[in-house]
Amino acid sequence: MAGDLAERWQRLRATIPAGVGLVAVTKYSEVPTLREAYHLGMAHFGENRIQEAQQKQEALRDLPITWHLIGHLQSNKVPLAVRHFAWIHSVDRPSLIPPLQRAIAAVGSSPKLLLQVKLEPDPDKSGWQEADLLAHLDTLRAADGLNWVGLMTMLPLGYTGDRAYEAFLRVKRLQERLWEQGWSQLQELSMGMSADYPEAIRAGATLVRIGSQLFRE
Ligand SMILES: *Cc1c(COP(=O)(O)O)cnc(C)c1O
Repeated sequence: MAGDLAERWQRLRATIPAGVGLVAVTKYSEVPTLREAYHLGMAHFGENRIQEAQQKQEALRDLPITWHLIGHLQSNKVPLAVRHFAWIHSVDRPSLIPPLQRAIAAVGSSPKLLLQVKLEPDPDKSGWQEADLLAHLDTLRAADGLNWVGLMTMLPLGYTGDRAYEAFLRVKRLQERLWEQGWSQLQELSMGMSADYPEAIRAGATLVRIGSQLFRE
């Protein structure tokens, strides 16, 4: 989109229904732009890399921003992630559970956690396959102290239009299946990026994660 950040924000906002949250993905942007974004009304920022995020957090300490980790999480970075983010969207494998439990016990509170699922084959993306998730359901639900709030997904490159919509719908169906299994606390569906967020919203997204459409001129 052309124009400055304020214009891009206004145009984007007009396309996101009330009730769908926006995570402004700030990985492409520097501190002054983040400050401007906050003053325009964005309050949820998503970052992929913990170290980069920490520097921005430090510089923006004076603002009550809610920080979301949306990028791949290495096991040895779990303690940092738990301390520095209110939300972690990328819990993508069983081996993250023990370090999450340890870090959360040490801090005394849990970030909001989402399970990253991958229902379409994509060797480049991590995430739980449906069967994998269902097989670990009891372990996940029994893990003390973890504040699960929903599912997150990213589509393989090249999924657009109806194909994107159908793929997002599969994630929505999985959420409903998990509700039927008694896991009703998974209320959030974090899906949709600049290229595909309208389809994600149509399929039931509660949070969209938008970077380039806002921050790339
Ligand atoms: C970069 C990124 C986004 C934002 O993507 P855009 O296409 O720039 O909107 C959303 N989610 C994740 C996990 C990302 O890495």
